[in-house]
Amino acid sequence: MPELPEVEVVRRGLAQWVTGRTIASVEVAHPRAVRRHLEGTEHFVAALTGRAFTDANRRGKYLWLPLAGPDGAPTGSALVGHLGMSGQLLVEKPSAPDETHLRARFTFTDGGRELRFVDQRTFGGLAVEDAPDGAVPPRLAHIAIDPLDPAFDVDAFSAALRRRHTEVKRALLDQTLIGGVGNIYADEALWRAGLHGARPTDRLTRGQVAALLDGVRDVLGEALAQGGTSFDSLYVDVNGQSGYFSRFLAVYGQADRPCPRCGTPIRRESFMNRSSYSCPQCQPRPRARRA
Ligand SMILES: [Zn+2]
Repeated sequence: MPELPEVEVVRRGLAQWVTGRTIASVEVAHPRAVRRHLEGTEHFVAALTGRAFTDANRRGKYLWLPLAGPDGAPTGSALVGHLGMSGQLLVEKPSAPDETHLRARFTFTDGGRELRFVDQRTFGGLAVEDAPDGAVPPRLAHIAIDPLDPAFDVDAFSAALRRRHTEVKRALLDQTLIGGVGNIYADEALWRAGLHGARPTDRLTRGQVAALLDGVRDVLGEALAQGGTSFDSLYVDVNGQSGYFSRFLAVYGQADRPCPRCGTPIRRESFMNRSSYSCPQCQPRPRARRA
């Protein structure tokens, strides 16, 4: 599943290839791709045709592209996209053959490359939503700004984290507290901070919170850099595999391999119906909590 760095790579590609262009036509090949546009497919098409994308933004794993009308004035709406499990946004020459799982196609008045939404499993989707005054669409407003965003508030995050009565990994995955951190990056950040995911948030010291946040930022930044290096500028890249960064994972998916820091075999534990990976030496389990 695409995580924050992969979606950020897509955002950059969209900013480069789509911003400033006017949509000539919209074709929806599968209604499920626009199911979140509650007024229906025809309304979705009408809300986009003749409009221009003015920017490419991201909130968590959502992309949102504000729209302007033919006069250049903002429409107060934005195209909102989520890639789900397998979604891709591709910039393709009009002559390129259709992808098997093509769900929507945008052509542009300049006759140049098309924007295509391709999604094998169709968990992703597109919708046009209100975005008054160019602000983030209200449906996304509850998603916390992520630590790659310059506006991320370190003090507010630290205070909110320590107020929670939960396990630190659950808190990292809570999109209302910190945006865009999925299972892989949570495990990697916890390893960097030397914290077991079951540590209670309200017992973390300020120093531990700071180390955790550094871990999150570093791992996301490095993953983004990897996505950036392999980013083919003509292909708005997301492969859904967290592919390029996988070579650099210290603990995630590394069960029984040596910890890169201390050599202790990495352990795998089940957590929220998934797996958590950690180093038993660097990330000792917390003592049992008071009854
Ligand atoms: Zn270790």
